[in-house]
Amino acid sequence: MHHFTYRNDRLFAEEVDLTALADAVGTPFYVYCEATLRRHLRIFADAFADTDTLIAYSVKASSNISVLKVLASEGAGADVVSAGELHRALIAGVAPRKIVFSGVGKTRDELSFALDANIYQFNVESEPELIALDEIAQTKGLRAPIALRINPDVAAGAHENISTGKSEDKFGVPWSRARALYATARAMKGVEIKGVDVHIGSQIDDLAPFEAAFKKIAVLINDLRADGCTIERLDLGGGLGIPYGEGATPPHPQAYAQMIKQVTASLGVQLIFEPGRMIAGNAGALVARVIYIKDGASRRFIILDAGMNDLMRPALYDAYHELWPVVKDNNKASEDYDVVGPICESTDRFAKARTLPRQNTGDLIAIMSAGAYGASQTSQYNTRPLIPEILVSGGRYAIIRKRPTLDEMMDGEAIADWLR
Ligand SMILES: *Cc1c(COP(=O)(O)O)cnc(C)c1O
Repeated sequence: MHHFTYRNDRLFAEEVDLTALADAVGTPFYVYCEATLRRHLRIFADAFADTDTLIAYSVKASSNISVLKVLASEGAGADVVSAGELHRALIAGVAPRKIVFSGVGKTRDELSFALDANIYQFNVESEPELIALDEIAQTKGLRAPIALRINPDVAAGAHENISTGKSEDKFGVPWSRARALYATARAMKGVEIKGVDVHIGSQIDDLAPFEAAFKKIAVLINDLRADGCTIERLDLGGGLGIPYGEGATPPHPQAYAQMIKQVTASLGVQLIFEPGRMIAGNAGALVARVIYIKDGASRRFIILDAGMNDLMRPALYDAYHELWPVVKDNNKASEDYDVVGPICESTDRFAKARTLPRQNTGDLIAIMSAGAYGASQTSQYNTRPLIPEILVSGGRYAIIRKRPTLDEMMDGEAIADWLR
C-alpha cells in the first residue's frame, strides 16, 4: 500500500499534485510519502507487537536524514553498513542503543568510530574482522557487543545479484565454521557475545527460504548454548520483498511474523530485524520528464531526463518498475515503447516494449516503487547532478536533498599544481 493516487486523472503524492511539484522543483526528482514510511514501519512493528523486538531500519535502502528522522520518530533503530551511515543515523537522532553495524568489510577506523559511539551490536562477518574488533576494543578498554553473521547456505533473492545466503556468496561466516568461531570469540576480552545474525538476501517473495534459514539458525543457537555461549539476541536481517507490479506477491508481514514466532518461540531471545525495501520501496517514486520521442529502426523510444545514474536498479538487477503517466488521458491510444535515459550506456533503460498511453515531449512519467535502492544508489556519472529528494507530508513538501549546481558538483575537484 502506498499514497500515490490519481485525482481527476492527475497523480498526487499524498495531497501534493506532482505536476505542480515538478514545475516547482524541476525534473527529475525523487518524491517520498511520509505517510507510507510511517505506515510500513507500523505494519512491521504491529506484527511483532507481542514480542521483544528491535526494528533496525536498513539505512542503505533510503538514507536521507529526513527519512531516518521519520522512522526514528516511529521508534525504529538503524542497521548501518559504513561510518557514513552511522553518522547519518546519529544526526537523525537514532539512539546508539538501537544501532547495529553490518557489512563484510568494516575498516578499523569504522570499527573504532562505532565503538566510540557505543552502538548496540556489531554483526561480525569474518574471523579477521573479529580479531580486529577485539584488538581495537581492548585498546579502548571496551567490550564490543557482537553477533556473528552466519551464512546458512540457503538460496534466496529474486536475482542472483541480491542473494547473500548461499555458501558461494561473500557474506557471513561459513556454516561449517560457526561454532568454532564462537569458541574463539568467547575467549576474547574485547568482545562480548550477544547473539547470532543472519541475512539471506533481498526482494524475497516466498517464506520458504526464510524458514529454512531460520530453522537452521535455531538449531545453531541450541548448539552454541550447549557449548557455553550466552545467546540473548537473534538478528534475522531484512529481505522481505515488495510488490513491484510484475506479478510477484510477497508474503504479508503478518505471515512472516507468524512463521518467525513459531520457529523462535522456544529460544527466548530478543529479535532484531533489518528491513529496508519493505519500509521505503513503495513510499517513493522518481518523476521524470519526456525529452524526446524517437523512432528507431524497429522500436519507438521514450527518452527521459532521468538515467541509470539516478535509478540503477533496472541496469543492475534487471529490475521491473511500473511507469505511471503523471497526467492520465483516457482518450489517448496505447503504444509500445522502450523507455530509456540519456546516458551513454546500453543498459540505461527503464523498460523494454512497455505499453503506455501515447507520450509526447514534456510529459511527466512516474517510475514507481523507487523509494528503496533508488536515491541511495545514485551517482554523478556523465557529470549529471544528483537529483533532488522531496518529502511530502499531507499537503506539504520539503526539499530534503537539493540539486547541486554545476559548480557545486565539482567542488571536491582540484587542478594539479603542475597543470595550472
Ligand atoms: C541490505 C541489507 C538489509 C536490508 O535488506 P532489504 O531487502 O532492503 O530488507 C538488511 N541487512 C543487511 C545486512 C543488508 O545488507
